[in-house]
Amino acid sequence: MMTPWQEAWQRIRAKLRTEFGDATFDSWLKPLGVLRAEGSKVLITVPTRFMCDWVKTHYLSRIIDHWRQETGAMIDVELVVSVQAPLPGPIAVVAVPVAKPNGRPARPDGHGDELDPAGDTYSAPLDPRFTFDSFVVGKSNELAHAAARRVASSAKVQFNPLFLYGGVGLGKTHLMHAIAAEIRARNPERKVLYMSAEKFMYQFIRALRYKDTMAFKEQFRSVDVLMIDDVQFIANKDSTQEEFFHTFNAVIDQHRQVIISGDRSPSDLEGIEDRIKSRLGWGLVADVHPTDYELRVGILQSKLEAMGRDDLPKEVTEFLARKIVSNVRELEGALNRVTAYSDLVGRPVTLEMTQEVLQDLIRSNDRRVSIAEIQRHVAEYFNVRLSDLLSARRARAVARPRQVAMYLSKQLTSRSLPEIGRKFGGRDHTTVMHAVRRIEELRETDSGLDQDIENLRRTLET
Ligand code: ADP
Ligand code: MG
Repeated sequence: MMTPWQEAWQRIRAKLRTEFGDATFDSWLKPLGVLRAEGSKVLITVPTRFMCDWVKTHYLSRIIDHWRQETGAMIDVELVVSVQAPLPGPIAVVAVPVAKPNGRPARPDGHGDELDPAGDTYSAPLDPRFTFDSFVVGKSNELAHAAARRVASSAKVQFNPLFLYGGVGLGKTHLMHAIAAEIRARNPERKVLYMSAEKFMYQFIRALRYKDTMAFKEQFRSVDVLMIDDVQFIANKDSTQEEFFHTFNAVIDQHRQVIISGDRSPSDLEGIEDRIKSRLGWGLVADVHPTDYELRVGILQSKLEAMGRDDLPKEVTEFLARKIVSNVRELEGALNRVTAYSDLVGRPVTLEMTQEVLQDLIRSNDRRVSIAEIQRHVAEYFNVRLSDLLSARRARAVARPRQVAMYLSKQLTSRSLPEIGRKFGGRDHTTVMHAVRRIEELRETDSGLDQDIENLRRTLET
């Protein structure tokens, strides 16, 4: 039977053949064989010295890339000149620091899968763009950011584990990578093992299948910092959870730092055993909230700076920050789409262009404001009771806020006038239409009210 390593090598060979073509593969790559693995290093045999040099300069970095992708670990590859047939051998994967040449800066373009072969000490590739420098701090993420900084900069274990949680696209993975990169920059000796919970499960299952759980466990034994991203992935996966729990406890018991991320707080994780949830909450639990308007503007500015562009009108940035509220990934996507479009058609970015290009995105972001939310905010803002807003009362103190709420419902949701009427205590659609017109008129003449509405719209849209 082939070992997992030999199997991996078979798959890598197939990829190399596709990548470089039959002729190249047959002359240079086919003769290579896996000899054995030592620690995180794979020894690969090459028949002659000349071939060895050639392979080293032309193909080695790709071979390393493939090994890392295949194993999810920071594999290094050494070429050995040997005519002997490759032998299978026992293999242990350990995340050992790979020697790094004179601190080259990370590629700003961040070509993700083109890993630097002489690269880093983590077991899954880190995105070089995800650093503390590129992370914009605002109210919503300041706790998580401070905790991440603390863990990254302190040699002592501070809180164990650090548990970061929040909705999708809000910067958890960014912070995790930033921590890993920072620890590594400060002290290359420290072994940082970063992997997604999905990868953890995948590796674990593979280890079970090949009766190779020793090697699997081995990789966690000597880590200084263990980071598991998206722990919710192991929900309802019983044996993976069990293994995760053992691993987690073992690392914590050795006073090594553990950092976990999840999509909700430990106690709210569903399908995860209670003892695990409870242990996850022992250290510091820091949440990342949805972004607010200011943070979104800040992120856009920092992103534009990184792209080296200053040709975006302020109204466009503000429009994006106001409209794309769901998460930062989508916000970045929107910005990329607009700038790419502008480059493509060779016209400067304008507000009209932005609205046009992002139609679909904006609509799906808009849908998130509900009439109920508008009513709640308006009642609170004008200090009237929600029940009054929905009642038949005609007193001016209630009637005006009600009109404002109807107006905002029309502006911010895609509901029809009759639908809006129904949500306001079963009023007729003509009443809603009247309210909308009235507020439109008043906005022209009453600057106080105009400001109120602007404030409300802001809070509702952020
Ligand atoms: P999560 O892991 O929480 O789903 P990510 O860390 O993958 O989210 O973030 C999604 C994208 O948004 C990434 O490109 C990340 O760089 C960016 N991002 C999120 N928050 C920030 C922030 N505060 N500053 C800069 N970029 C951010
Ligand atoms: Mg993530």
